[in-house]
Amino acid sequence: MTNNNDIDTSANESSSVFETPEEKKRRFLMEFENPFKCDKCSERFKKKKYLREHKAEVHAY
Ligand SMILES: [Zn+2]
Repeated sequence: MTNNNDIDTSANESSSVFETPEEKKRRFLMEFENPFKCDKCSERFKKKKYLREHKAEVHAY
């Protein structure tokens, strides 16, 4: 008889779903410091001017 229990490892992927408290804090800080988010590609900017320039350059059409 072989040990088939080792085949089912799908539960191991769940660790990537959770953020560590440090990651959460960093993300929060980033959202706090860069409140202007591009609605087309989700990039964030510190100033509205940067967002406007980004949109004009990257999403010109
Ligand atoms: Zn963008």
